[in-house]
Amino acid sequence: MPEGRPNILFIMSDDHASHAMSCYGSRINRTPNLDRIAEGGMRLDNCFCTNSICTPSRAAILTGTHNHVNGVTTLATHMDNRLTTFPKLLRDAGYATAIFGKWHLGTGPEHCPTGFDDWAVLPGQGLYHNPQFIFDGPDGGTPRVMRGYVTDIITDLCLDWLGRRDRSKPFCLLYHHKAPHRHWEPDEKHAHLYLNEEIPEPDTLYDDYANRASAAAAAKTRVGVHMNERDLKCDISRNLDESELRKWAYQRYIKDYLRVIASVDDNVGRVLDYLDAEGLTDNTLVIYTSDQGFFLGDHGWFDKRFMYEQSLRMPFILRYPREVAAGSVNGDIVTNVDFAPLFLDLAGLPAPADMQGRSFRPLLGGRTPDDWQQSMYYRYWMHKDNPHNVYAHYGVRTRRYKLIYYYADPLGQPGANAGCEEPEWELFDLEADRDEMRNVYADPAYAAVARDLKRELHRLQAELGDQRYPRDVD
Ligand code: CA
Repeated sequence: MPEGRPNILFIMSDDHASHAMSCYGSRINRTPNLDRIAEGGMRLDNCFCTNSICTPSRAAILTGTHNHVNGVTTLATHMDNRLTTFPKLLRDAGYATAIFGKWHLGTGPEHCPTGFDDWAVLPGQGLYHNPQFIFDGPDGGTPRVMRGYVTDIITDLCLDWLGRRDRSKPFCLLYHHKAPHRHWEPDEKHAHLYLNEEIPEPDTLYDDYANRASAAAAAKTRVGVHMNERDLKCDISRNLDESELRKWAYQRYIKDYLRVIASVDDNVGRVLDYLDAEGLTDNTLVIYTSDQGFFLGDHGWFDKRFMYEQSLRMPFILRYPREVAAGSVNGDIVTNVDFAPLFLDLAGLPAPADMQGRSFRPLLGGRTPDDWQQSMYYRYWMHKDNPHNVYAHYGVRTRRYKLIYYYADPLGQPGANAGCEEPEWELFDLEADRDEMRNVYADPAYAAVARDLKRELHRLQAELGDQRYPRDVD
């Protein structure tokens, strides 16, 4: 391998929450192949996205910048494919690069993947069965329908490319699953799983949203209540009260969610086997992550968007035997804008000055720099989006606390809907209230904490160049 630079296999699924991975202690499923990555390397316990929604998170990962900088603030703002991304920089430095699977940053000549030697991506969300892909080609690519199940096909495309890649170069392969995104449609092989089982319910399935900002009760992301027949694969006009509806729909929803994950796990296993068989395991950085977390009935919800833990947290496990001790765990704060600088660092390249993230390579070796970040900045822009109705908010999370400001204003963002709400604050003490059920913003005992967090929030906004909402005053 030239200069000993590692290969990079970046595996990203869509909406896979870490509490549905056994290496993160899942109570509801087993993921033996994903666990192989964690057992052979490191698990990050405090990896967060800076905007919990597909398109913006993907742009942050590729560019190493926050969404107010890369311009991809909502699902309706597609990425300008002239932006600098880590695959482009790696390719310029001699890497063979490719992406297969979910892209979701737009289509056509201005938004299709760039910086890759080869690619094939799903248009938009794509389909689970017999999906169309857009293959690398002129004018934004060439569409072609592929027969079969999407998770298998994406894996086949990756294995095929690995087999025919230029072996004189290290590779960087982005292996992006559609699963387990809504509408959670399993393949035949896994459709029988959990048939005669009851999946354990989360502690907060019957949350009534008391003691929270009004945004929580306003969200239209409740299990059962805001699901449709496509989500539940049956008629949902049942004569149930809301608690009964949540209980019944949770079982239907979570089983399909876990079934599509079982296929992801199987397929990741196929690729790990390939690396072993080809003698590539030692010199390949393998990552498994997801573009954000997901509510698995937590707070009575499915979906994401909120800055609450299950949505904010990204699973992030990696294996790189040359630098990372097997079975290690790290609890430092890392965000999705830090990924690109890490990859460049491992390839021996400096991160461009306009990348806002920082390489966390020292963390992989068990060394946390004294000046490592102690907080992270979050912003969800897509106010009252259809149909989820989550209010626009920003906030800061530290190791112990989380401060959220629902400014609740569309600010003219594409995909956001009109109708401002009165701004509200939420403060959670995650040590005392891990489930985020009690907003202590107005509690006099937390006045000093709230003041300090607000100062930290505004410091981060100034440092990152984001605009504070005019009504957010000290
Ligand atoms: Ca997603």
